[in-house]
Amino acid sequence: MLSEKYPVSISNSLSGSKELFNPVNPGNVGMYVCGPTVYNNVHLGNVRTFLTFDIVSRYLRFLGFKVRYVRNITDVGHLENDADEGEDKISKKARLEQLEPMEVVKTYTEGFHEVMRQFNILPPSIEPSATGHIVEQIEITKKLIEKGFAYEVNGSVYFDVNSYNIEHNYGILSGRVIEELMESGRKLDSQDEKRNKVDFALWKKASPYHIMRWPSPWGEGFPGWHIECTVMSTKYLGETFDIHGGGMDLKFPHHECEIAQAVGAHGKAPVNYWIHSNMLTVNGQKMSKSLGNSFLPSELFAGSHPLLEKGFGPMPVRFFMLQSHYSSTLDFSNEALIAAEKGFKKLSNALGLVKKLVHPGAGSSSNKELADGLTNLIEACYVNMSDDFNTAKTLAVLFEMSSRINDFKSGNISMKEVSEETFTAFKNTYIGIMEDVLGLREEEEHNHELLNGVITVLIDLRKKARQDKNFALSDKIRDDLKKLGVQLMDGKEGDMNYTID
Ligand SMILES: [Zn+2]
Repeated sequence: MLSEKYPVSISNSLSGSKELFNPVNPGNVGMYVCGPTVYNNVHLGNVRTFLTFDIVSRYLRFLGFKVRYVRNITDVGHLENDADEGEDKISKKARLEQLEPMEVVKTYTEGFHEVMRQFNILPPSIEPSATGHIVEQIEITKKLIEKGFAYEVNGSVYFDVNSYNIEHNYGILSGRVIEELMESGRKLDSQDEKRNKVDFALWKKASPYHIMRWPSPWGEGFPGWHIECTVMSTKYLGETFDIHGGGMDLKFPHHECEIAQAVGAHGKAPVNYWIHSNMLTVNGQKMSKSLGNSFLPSELFAGSHPLLEKGFGPMPVRFFMLQSHYSSTLDFSNEALIAAEKGFKKLSNALGLVKKLVHPGAGSSSNKELADGLTNLIEACYVNMSDDFNTAKTLAVLFEMSSRINDFKSGNISMKEVSEETFTAFKNTYIGIMEDVLGLREEEEHNHELLNGVITVLIDLRKKARQDKNFALSDKIRDDLKKLGVQLMDGKEGDMNYTID
């Protein structure tokens, strides 16, 4: 297996150091990633997070691991400001838009899937939802009460951080110190039911107006935000699994709470390797709605955002994000995207070329220096990817490879100078790393969409010209398109269709 030749090392957020990856079950990988809360459109910062774990799962599979990738859908329990008080994000949206909560969930889940598809981010193996696991969340909450790590007050249940911290370490992941957490921030007010402000909700009593509610041993209510991930990760991956991922902003409190819940319930650490991907910034500033610099993928494709000069396809943007390591911040700007578009085009062109190159077979002479050079490039792809999934360094190698491809194509170097075996390994590595590992494909599909859009605009203009009785213009549009091989056809009720020669 390739994973033995190129052992993977991972920067583990839990230990703060780079560690050799050893899965619980040899040859298999269990990975859990916190998915979206489906109450609004995903923005580009979210896309970067899911892209990071797309690369992790793609590369581990490429090495030969059997990967079970679980990414959840949060469709209940995530309250405003990520807090224990306030309205449920889904419920609020449903109330404002006068929809059933599940209508909100369906709309934004489908929108999320569409964005993932556009960016060529592969679906996970299992995509469980919080509302589908209410029974399990109630069961684990009961268990935590029995073990003395949780308590019930007025129909709500809270995790007792102090009691947990006697024998365990709340702060093991985030480095937060419980005494400091107790002192900082707002004081516990008299209406607060918690014993301590560091405690967090496992189950919340539903107020009379709360739409999303389920019966429980403590009355009608709904689960807290953190417990769903503990339940769904351990249900599908076991009480201790290999990799847990998410955005850096989830490290505390969300992931810290996940560890406390799992250790409290099962008596063992749930995750061996924690991976956190870093933020996307815009012209050096944090991406946020209030600063007006948060981007939706649709604004990016259409170029309809004030900070953009033009639209960008999903593949150049994917390439742009892979140019930096997932653990670094990545700055997003119009200029950076334009540069990325050029870079991507170079690699994409080479991909098209190399697919068509066929070694002539027998009769090859041997150029050892060239052959060694090609073998070193192949090695470098694996070494860089195995070094904590370093896509930035891998892309630098692909650029070198693309220069060789152009040399082969132009005849600058003859393929005959190396053996068929070496050439085929070089070719397959370039294609495999580009398409299977980095998920970068040639842009034909996008160009097709673009072409469709442009022709539709011209058809609309021609209709308008005819309505205005400007037949000279309408004929010119038709004739010029025809010269380019685009044939317009009049349909029923003024509709218009087209074919391309
Ligand atoms: Zn989570």
